[in-house]
Amino acid sequence: MAEIIELFKLQKGVNTMLDMRTIGEEKAQEVLQAYTSQDEPINPIAIAEKLGIKVINAEFTTDMISGALQVHPGDDSRVATIYVKHDDAPVRKRFTIAHELGHYFLHAESQTDFIDEQSVFFRNGQKNKEETEANDFAANLLMPRELVLKIWGMSGDVEFLSHYFGVSRTAMKYRLNNLGVSV
Ligand SMILES: [Zn+2]
Repeated sequence: MAEIIELFKLQKGVNTMLDMRTIGEEKAQEVLQAYTSQDEPINPIAIAEKLGIKVINAEFTTDMISGALQVHPGDDSRVATIYVKHDDAPVRKRFTIAHELGHYFLHAESQTDFIDEQSVFFRNGQKNKEETEANDFAANLLMPRELVLKIWGMSGDVEFLSHYFGVSRTAMKYRLNNLGVSV
């Protein structure tokens, strides 16, 4: 019995290692391949522009909102606009835009308006599946697994990596932990 349990654990472990790419990671990798060159820190605004998506600095009616995506229906090219809180810090805006791109790629078939309050971006306690997926997409777009591990291998410094990838220190740390690097 003990042997069977051990074997089961081992196989489960192997499967987890082999291919447990989330839908967010899969889609982010596709987008990176299609819209960026290899090994460069990505610019989510440039990706949006290539897709014909306008990115607008906006003043929302409430400070609670960080970003929004509006997909204009009835258009073949799925024209869309991303609104981002005008006075958020640049790293914050990058994450917001990447998150809205996540909605665009993953959820815009069934929904046209996405409004994101700041609380949506907090990694814990996010119960809505679509928000979790958009955050996961954003993390994978801004901090692609292989590039993160490569740069981490060269530098080993969270501060350096957070600048390199243009994300907050917290987001960088969280991403590294997610990739099995304890920092
Ligand atoms: Zn969202």
